[in-house]
Amino acid sequence: MSGRQQLISAARELLGPNAVVTDPANIATWVTDWRGRVHGAAPAMLAPASTEEAAAIVTLAAEHCVPLVPQGGNTGMVAGATPPGDGSALLLSMRRMNRIRAIGAGERLAVAEAGVVLATLHEAAAATDLRFPLTLGSRGSCTIGGLASTNAGGTQVLKFGTMRALVAGIEAVLPDGSIYDGLTDLKKDNRGYSIDQLLIGAEGTLGVITAVALRLVPAIASRAVAWAGVASPAGALDLLRFLEANTGSVEGFELVPQDSLRLVLDHIPGTRPPLAGDHRWQVLVEAATSDPGFDVTAEMQRLLATALEKRIIDDAVIAASEAQAEAFWKIRDSISEAERAEGQTLAHDISVPVAAMPRFLVEASAEVERSFPRVVASGFGHLGDGNIHFHVRAGSHAAPDWYNQEGEAITRFVDDLVTAAGGSISAEHGIGQLKLREFERLASPARLHALRAIKQALDPLGIMNPGKLVP
Ligand SMILES: Cc1cc2nc3c(=O)[nH]c(=O)nc-3n(C[C@H](O)[C@H](O)[C@H](O)COP(=O)(O)OP(=O)(O)OC[C@H]3O[C@@H](n4cnc5c(N)ncnc54)[C@H](O)[C@@H]3O)c2cc1C
Repeated sequence: MSGRQQLISAARELLGPNAVVTDPANIATWVTDWRGRVHGAAPAMLAPASTEEAAAIVTLAAEHCVPLVPQGGNTGMVAGATPPGDGSALLLSMRRMNRIRAIGAGERLAVAEAGVVLATLHEAAAATDLRFPLTLGSRGSCTIGGLASTNAGGTQVLKFGTMRALVAGIEAVLPDGSIYDGLTDLKKDNRGYSIDQLLIGAEGTLGVITAVALRLVPAIASRAVAWAGVASPAGALDLLRFLEANTGSVEGFELVPQDSLRLVLDHIPGTRPPLAGDHRWQVLVEAATSDPGFDVTAEMQRLLATALEKRIIDDAVIAASEAQAEAFWKIRDSISEAERAEGQTLAHDISVPVAAMPRFLVEASAEVERSFPRVVASGFGHLGDGNIHFHVRAGSHAAPDWYNQEGEAITRFVDDLVTAAGGSISAEHGIGQLKLREFERLASPARLHALRAIKQALDPLGIMNPGKLVP
């Protein structure tokens, strides 16, 4: 019997049939990545219901030297949760660990198991008049363990930071099967390296996160969602700087080029342009307050009127209702879907220093379009974080396999531009397997050496998500 089969039998005996799925029909949807680009295989999906069960599985995996691929909602963008195609690894699904162990107003803290879906945590926090202030398009499926393991960002990073800033502590099973308990919310703790921070963004390569203590903030009392037209990305950044100088209530600031808006209007039913006329660049601004006595809409009206007077913006509208606010967000959240409907698209989740982003965006788009005739380059997203989704679309006459023919060359070109600008080829999605080769090509020797040394020290057998993140 192979090590894998021995592990499957031992896990079934120890944890019962619910924790061991071997029917290929029940595994099939979990071995392909969210974008449908990478297809893996796994002879079994192990699904612990507790930290102790997760520790028992990892101990067995170490004993039999069988690789595990941790998985939450499988919504990651870089195929980090997709097992290799040769069936050499087992999936470790964390979705059964879905209890919110504690949530309390006193400490403004929630302790959620790794498999809790983000939207469920949002609801639980709202029920206690609190809020977990990280949100993103996959909130209905992605899990707390996956969010922590990818150090996810989303649309409110501007004010609240990425997962790194929102995690107060982590509980995890390390690659030797031991349980690390860092769930205590210590404001000060200088006992050397932060194991919590090592595990955040580790993409399952250093252990399995089983629970996370998360920082909560007061619930939103009201919000103002505005849409403004600006002349350029530099104008958009001017607007952000103007707003930041005058209010602390801006949480979201998303850049939307006219080209992306057009695609959404063409392909997503029920969408309408928020502003009359053409504006080459547009921004969605969300401001919110937890103070019921503060009129955030009046403040936003006043600030946008001043921005108009100062010619920072060309036009603006504030959503008149929650439904209209949601309609504005729907436009922003539908851009990727609209691009897919239009044709083949190459996605690059990149960052450069915030102040450098407007110029980078304009120049990089022009250089890509010059070097690869007929493609359309365009960037949208979290301008205030210096993080743009820089997407390159095939022209209308592209070959059906344009993605395979030209994709690698275009991506290398974009990644070289990003690196030359002092940026990162992965702002918020991670490295997974899709960016592994580019990461190895472009990362500094010091970064690669440190990464490999940490991996070797904590996972000498190489059983935790091999082939991901660490080249
Ligand atoms: C529509 C859509 C919009 C998105 N928008 C954003 C966005 O705005 N910002 C952003 O940052 N990301 C965004 N993402 C991607 C984002 O990374 C994921 O949605 C989320 O962080 C992954 O959670 P998951 O539970 O699905 O993890 P999975 O995809 O299952 O796993 C992701 C990685 O984490 C590892 N992992 C999962 N669970 C654990 C665990 N318990 N312990 C150890 N390792 C684990 C996996 O091995 C894998 O490497 C978006 C995705 C989609 C589909």
